[in-house]
This record gives sequence, C-alpha cells and structure tokens, in this order.
Amino acid sequence: MTVQAEVAAAANELARAGLLIGTSGNVSVRFGDRVAITGTGVILADCTEADVTVVDLGGAVIEGRLEPSSEIALHLAVYGGTSAAAVVHTHAPFSTAAACVLTELPVLHYQHLALGGAVRVAPYATFGTDELAANVLEALAGRQAALMANHGSVAVGSSLRAAIDNAVLLEWLATLHQHARQFGEPRALTAQQQNDVIEQAIRRGYGSPQERQ
Ligand SMILES: [Zn+2]
Repeated sequence: MTVQAEVAAAANELARAGLLIGTSGNVSVRFGDRVAITGTGVILADCTEADVTVVDLGGAVIEGRLEPSSEIALHLAVYGGTSAAAVVHTHAPFSTAAACVLTELPVLHYQHLALGGAVRVAPYATFGTDELAANVLEALAGRQAALMANHGSVAVGSSLRAAIDNAVLLEWLATLHQHARQFGEPRALTAQQQNDVIEQAIRRGYGSPQERQ
C-alpha cells in the first residue's frame, strides 16, 4: 500500500467513525522529509490515494493533482516541532463542542492518560493561519492531542494508527465529559491517582495483548 493510500484509508475510517464530516478535517503522515496529506475540498469518506498530495517539509508540492489541505501550516508546524509521525485534525462533534466552552479537558477517566494528561484548548485563531499552527503546537507540549478553541481537535501519534486511535479516544473523552456533566460537576482524577495509573500501566503492560504465562 502506498503512503497516499494509507492516508486515504485513514480518512475513510475516521469518516465512518463520524469524526470527519463531509470535507472538514484532514489527515497526514510524515515519511522522511516528505508529508502526505489529504487534498483540499475532498469528501473524506470517499477519499482515494489520488486525493492525497505529497509535499516537502516547507509545503512545496512534490506529487498530487490537488492543492494540499488548507491546514497544511498546522501539520507542518507539528512535524517541525514534535517527533509525531502522523497528524489527524477533525471537527468531531463532541471534541468541537468541548473546544467552544472549556479551556482544558480534565482527566476524568484513566484512559485519558494515554494522551499525556489534561488536553489543552489552544486559543482561537483563523483557520489555515500560522498563528493557529503556533497556538496548537504550544497546546500539544507533552500531549498526544489538543483542542482548538471554537474549531475542532488535533491528535498526533508515533504512527498513523496511533494518531487515529488518539483522535477517536479524544472524541470519546469529550463525549464522556458531556454525559458526566448531565449528572453534576464531574470529579477529575487527582495527580496521585494519575501517577498510580501510569505506574500500574507500566507494570501491567496495559493496552497490549498479554500472552498467558
Ligand atoms: Zn478545521
């Protein structure tokens, strides 16, 4: 499978999961000094490898028939400033709703810690701008995801699979937060409880299949 086909398959999967709606959102993968990113205006549920554009780390198009996504500056800023191998940007409903209200998404559930801690909401800036890219990069420090005020979500990962999973996890956590609020003010895990989760996860190899001894 080409890198372009992998990006297209990721866009299709995230559209089926309800995270990418119509043409909103974008997916990219870094390979060496190149980035494959969904083209602008593509209906992501129908995205094919021909709809994915390859650029260099400066954003110059190397291959592809479409202009790269309008959020290319955001993707390039993440690759320039982190070790991420893939970036997923969505306007997923609960993540975006949370980003319209909160300044950070607190850790209510231990699974949240896979994202590195409370998810920060990057200050608002116009889509496609370097200002927005810089705000998001700052919000991503030490995290695998960030929210973008009144806009959406960004998830990164050490692989395309990890970035997809992190985007889905963030949407689940935003949904959980919204549901929890129906009952009253949610309890966040304390710093000690969060540390205990991380220690236990390391001890138990949490998240990977365990062969019986
Ligand atoms: Zn967007």
